Amino acid sequence: CLCAKYSGIVEDCCCDYETVDRLNEELLHPSLQELVKTAFFRYFKAKLWCDCPFWPDDGMCRLRDCSVCECPDSEFPESFKMPHSQEDPICQEGKPQAAVDRTIDSKSFRGWTEADNPWTYDDETDNSEMTYVNLQLNPERYTGYTGPSARRIWDAIYSENCPKYPSEELCHEEKILYKLISGLHSSISIHIAADYLLDEAINSWGQNLSLMYDRVLSYPDRVRNLYFTFLFVLRAVTKAADYLEYAEYDTGNPNEDLKTQSLMRQLLFNPKLQAACPVPFDEAKLWKGQRGPELKQQIQKQFRNISALMDCVGCEKCRLWGKLQVLGLGTALKILFSVDGQEHSAQNLQLQRNEVIALMNLLNRLSESVRFVHEMGPSVERIMEGQ
Ligand code: FAD
Repeated sequence: CLCAKYSGIVEDCCCDYETVDRLNEELLHPSLQELVKTAFFRYFKAKLWCDCPFWPDDGMCRLRDCSVCECPDSEFPESFKMPHSQEDPICQEGKPQAAVDRTIDSKSFRGWTEADNPWTYDDETDNSEMTYVNLQLNPERYTGYTGPSARRIWDAIYSENCPKYPSEELCHEEKILYKLISGLHSSISIHIAADYLLDEAINSWGQNLSLMYDRVLSYPDRVRNLYFTFLFVLRAVTKAADYLEYAEYDTGNPNEDLKTQSLMRQLLFNPKLQAACPVPFDEAKLWKGQRGPELKQQIQKQFRNISALMDCVGCEKCRLWGKLQVLGLGTALKILFSVDGQEHSAQNLQLQRNEVIALMNLLNRLSESVRFVHEMGPSVERIMEGQ
């Protein structure tokens, strides 16, 4: 039974599985679902084309379900304001899905820092090469990106940058890095399984439960790592609450911006969350001992490599979500851990706009995955293990 397998405190965290599921169901998931639809959080700025620093393009970018359409500027900005309009047949998959608005940068989102993040390779200062993508219209789901190209990325991530698979030889901090990546990998797999192309001939999409079982549920450590990553990112968000409460969410639409602020407050200062899981992860335990500073530099470098590897993902939509989620994790690391030996305080924390968008969208993706595992897991296990 799934509930027996996942009970007690989530390893290395301060909350138990039951509480996480309950809080997610009642509070986090509904608020995050609303939040990521707001104008501030639905546009992510990204450099989308293959620009791999490690090996040549392997030609996978042409996969149909992989593409994120960049429509000509003449089709914008009106189509953004009417996301359900039928007037944009050129866009990806025949829908006005992949709207990319190049004009929005100068109009909105002013007042944010452009400070670099030492944990990530990517940043939004590279303006000439970047475009905006409407995340709501480019969902993370099955794309057909598989085989050696996808395998090479995961192999490079695990073998070169999370040095060995978990073993007694790994120190605590190295295990944390591994668990974060593994938890993210579980979440990506769950989203693929939750929104899968079941029949290409009739373009039928739905859940692929056996894939979810084969890739995630049949490996309890992958499920545990998903919960761990969720709590880690949640801790970063709540730790940055004072900063995030007063950040600039102006998109030029006062009603929508008020809603964004109110949803953020609901998430950041919720009494139920504070009572049931006040410190989801205790970062103060890390980087202790003589090797601490050196270890932090080493892990920072490894994480930057992982971030750079996202430019090698040979499928545009996977690259978009890969970049966003790795940037989200890098932002959580930046919030939780000091930069260059300096401890952050709420007063001197500086986040880029794109980092905040990535952080909250990542939390939402993890929250969806945790909910999916909680709701579907027991019945999927029963079906698959009864076979
Ligand atoms: P993979 O998922 O490729 O896993 C490779 C190996 O890693 C496994 O054999 C296993 O040994 C190990 N592994 C698997 N899961 C875990 C885990 N949770 N923890 C630790 N080890 C693990 N495809 C899409 O269809 N849509 C997407 O949006 C998408 N986004 C992607 C984003 C990135 C950054 C990358 C690198 C790939 C993405 N893919 C996406 C491809 C997808 O993740 C798989 O690589 C692909 O579906 C092939 O799956 P697979 O069964 O070969 O195993």
